[in-house]
Amino acid sequence: MANRLGMKMEIGRDVYRPSGAAGAAPERDVHGAAAWGNERAGCGNPACTRGWLRLLKDRRRPVFEGHWGCSAECVQTLVEAAVRRELGDSAVAEEDRQHLHRVPLGLVLLAQGLITQPQLQHALDAQRRAGRGRIGSWLVAECGLKEERVTRALGLQWNCPVLPMEGFDPAAMALLAPRELVKRVGMLPLRIAGGRILYLAFEDQMDASAAFAMERMSGLKVESGLVDGGQLKTAWRRLRECDFVDAAFEQVPDIESISGKITLALGKLKPRASRLVRVHRFYWLRMWLEMGAMSTRDGGVPATKEDVVDRIYTVGYEQ
Ligand SMILES: [Zn+2]
Repeated sequence: MANRLGMKMEIGRDVYRPSGAAGAAPERDVHGAAAWGNERAGCGNPACTRGWLRLLKDRRRPVFEGHWGCSAECVQTLVEAAVRRELGDSAVAEEDRQHLHRVPLGLVLLAQGLITQPQLQHALDAQRRAGRGRIGSWLVAECGLKEERVTRALGLQWNCPVLPMEGFDPAAMALLAPRELVKRVGMLPLRIAGGRILYLAFEDQMDASAAFAMERMSGLKVESGLVDGGQLKTAWRRLRECDFVDAAFEQVPDIESISGKITLALGKLKPRASRLVRVHRFYWLRMWLEMGAMSTRDGGVPATKEDVVDRIYTVGYEQ
């Protein structure tokens, strides 16, 4: 790091130019304890000209997605880049594409010999007359098909496993995502296996966007699968009785407002780690406040609900 010429020092992605911003940067009082070691030197904002100087004076919080921002402006720059990334996330488009190539459930059941052509026709008619409901539900209601068979056929349709409920740990699972998000997305975190795989269940269709978000937020590898409707409802009831992480749900007028809100939240709570993911129209910010809460340097699975705070933002005031 020492540079005898004293003209330019490079630390991480920051460039310190003594002739430039030195002394000119407004002083800001940034409180908080030191973060992880020294391996992340300097401000995380690539355009920042103050990072190295401020490192000498300031403690290293807040940390957003592994980067420390030296000022509200630099934190905002980091956050804006993350919001743009999430806005352009292709996971949802990928999911839609997969959906187009899916064999209809009725045909899967027919091919498996689990229903007859007249039964399928009857259920389709009932569905059309009612104008609602999934074909699987109509086959269960009208033709006496067992729910577990629908689930097995859905597994074939989505090419995913039907997950067993053994080992479901609601108290631990409640810490993985905000209650509101679990409910709205219709996902059920089931269990963590070997400290590295999270089993994530859905009722009747896979959600690639949710799985990808859970993977990045937990630091675990996510395996998605199905559980049948009855088991899922029972499990959700048990999960709802558990303590979830405190989450504020907020609707904002436009995408830029999300960056502003997140920057304010980071400045106020000064998390040791934080991360933003999008699940469909929900922008989910998680902030790890305590060192003990972090199973990895970037966050991971919290040990107690007090260790992390969630915020969920949506754009627009519909619903
Ligand atoms: Zn900076």
